[in-house]
Amino acid sequence: MADVMDVLRQHAKEYTLQLNAKDLQLQQELLELKRQVLAKEREIKFAGEATKRFLDFSPSLAGVVQCPCCWILWQVRTDLHTVRGTADADEFACSACGSSFTVEI
Ligand SMILES: [Zn+2]
Repeated sequence: MADVMDVLRQHAKEYTLQLNAKDLQLQQELLELKRQVLAKEREIKFAGEATKRFLDFSPSLAGVVQCPCCWILWQVRTDLHTVRGTADADEFACSACGSSFTVEI
């Protein structure tokens, strides 16, 4: 016949092991949440600086037209290439982001 104290102690040990496992899981979840918060804070900061990037945007560098999408969204200067030009409009495209821009003449 099992001793009551031993049985209760064994149950207490099992609860303890369950919480120890849960503690590790919660700490891992908390680290992931902190990582997500930091990433979101970086996104917010970058979005808040869009006006500054707009003011710094140069539509043309050394005579080569630049992609406004790449500059504003990723702060990367990317050359646009001419897709086609007609008597009425020129069309430019960005090979980096896939944006295209039509400029009516
Ligand atoms: Zn682009």
